[in-house]
Amino acid sequence: MPSDPLVAQHVLEFPGGYTRTTGPVIGRFLTELRARRIVGARTAEGRVLVPPLEYDPATGEPVTGEYVEVGPAGTVTTWAWVDEPIEAHPLDRPFAWALIELDGADTALLHAVDAGNAKAIEAGTRVWPVWRDQPTGHITDIAYFAPEVTKIVSNVRAEYRLQAGGALRVFLGGIERGVFLGGRCAECDKVYVPYRLSCPQCGGGIGETVELPDTGTITTFAINNLPDPRAPQVPFVSAYILLDNADVPMIALIGDIPAHEVRQGMRVRAVWIPENERTASMANIRWFAPTGEPDVELS
Ligand SMILES: [Zn+2]
Repeated sequence: MPSDPLVAQHVLEFPGGYTRTTGPVIGRFLTELRARRIVGARTAEGRVLVPPLEYDPATGEPVTGEYVEVGPAGTVTTWAWVDEPIEAHPLDRPFAWALIELDGADTALLHAVDAGNAKAIEAGTRVWPVWRDQPTGHITDIAYFAPEVTKIVSNVRAEYRLQAGGALRVFLGGIERGVFLGGRCAECDKVYVPYRLSCPQCGGGIGETVELPDTGTITTFAINNLPDPRAPQVPFVSAYILLDNADVPMIALIGDIPAHEVRQGMRVRAVWIPENERTASMANIRWFAPTGEPDVELS
């Protein structure tokens, strides 16, 4: 019969606290913390060690005795996310342990960052200390670091009614019917779309309203990588389209084709929303889509 192992339970405890002396350098660091200042020690080579050490780890030389105030802000150099904090941790919610290089320091300090979630911290994140209410001269006088405030979110809502002036009213009246209306200059014969009241080229008055087809040619275009509520997806293409029989191009979205296949000279046609949904608004035109006709040589 094997005998039970002999076991004795021990507890190592220092009721009232285990007292260590800090030495002059760490002592200075902690004393400054109590006054809500963070200091580093300057080495003989001029580097600033934070937290300070009595000897320069690079050379083994004693530090100079000069203390330099650093921070209080700093930059995260590396970090590890703690999803489930344990009792001994400084925060009772998920946080990051981070190495933080305080402004003016040449070494990094290990501390907790209350970033909210792991996506809110990365190498390069700027952080500021959040001090405890009652500093006592301990590293925990800094309760934790928190990311710099880089944005605020406020709700914006604007309601307005746009009253179309004479020319725009004519043009949108056409759009409501599914027709592009242009104006022909009485002097120089150029056709402008959207419809306008005078000729920007010669200053002549617009003599005649012209119904234009909803087909045209892409003269130039841009591929956009930032989302736009009017665009089908990202990336999307906006283009200048020279409607057939018009003399100036108008700007519109291009759809139903991958962005990288859009070309100058491509023939396109407006894609209208269903007739019963139309209003006097440019929203009637979803976008322009390729017609499949051969490209046009642009002059
Ligand atoms: Zn003109």
